[in-house]
Amino acid sequence: MYVLDGGRISIASLALGIAKGAFEAAAKYSKERYQFDQPISNFQAISFKLADMATEIDAAELLILRACELKNQHKKVTLESAMAKYYASEVAVKVANDAVQIFGGNGYTKEFPVEKFYRDSKLCTIGEGTSEIQKIVIAREVLSKF
Ligand SMILES: Cc1cc2nc3c(=O)[nH]c(=O)nc-3n(C[C@H](O)[C@H](O)[C@H](O)COP(=O)(O)OP(=O)(O)OC[C@H]3O[C@@H](n4cnc5c(N)ncnc54)[C@H](O)[C@@H]3O)c2cc1C
Repeated sequence: MYVLDGGRISIASLALGIAKGAFEAAAKYSKERYQFDQPISNFQAISFKLADMATEIDAAELLILRACELKNQHKKVTLESAMAKYYASEVAVKVANDAVQIFGGNGYTKEFPVEKFYRDSKLCTIGEGTSEIQKIVIAREVLSKF
């Protein structure tokens, strides 16, 4: 269980990298792809997706940094690593999904990188304990304080 606590920070970091890659690809593409004589980033439906993606990526990174800081201090990180892993992996799947959507039909093909981000992100909600198991760990830890 001690090893899993540390491993979950690694999977959370993997998820964060995937999310950042998907976000960067989508943000760049949204400024290159023109529809109705303007870049699709001009459409609020697209820019609001990017705003959500950027916010959730930052939130995931902060959870990971907290878990890392505690781990470096050799403190118990059962709760913090489960939260970081659960949140970052779910964010990675959501961000990759939105990135595919922003790429439209191109996102579904292997000509562009986002379909791979989408496939790779899904591992992060499963390996080192599924999201359901993280929630069991988180609930057990928070409830033990009352
Ligand atoms: C690409 C990949 C690489 C992997 N690498 C490794 C590795 O290097 N080392 C290693 O040891 N393992 C590895 N795994 C295995 C991984 O850790 C397991 O797949 C994961 O823990 C889920 O276990 P399971 O597949 O047996 O699913 P199951 O336990 O059968 O779960 C199936 C579903 O039931 C849910 N579920 C199960 N129990 C509960 C419960 N008590 N309450 C609520 N829901 C529950 C799960 O959340 C899931 O949705 C890897 C998996 C993948 C996909």
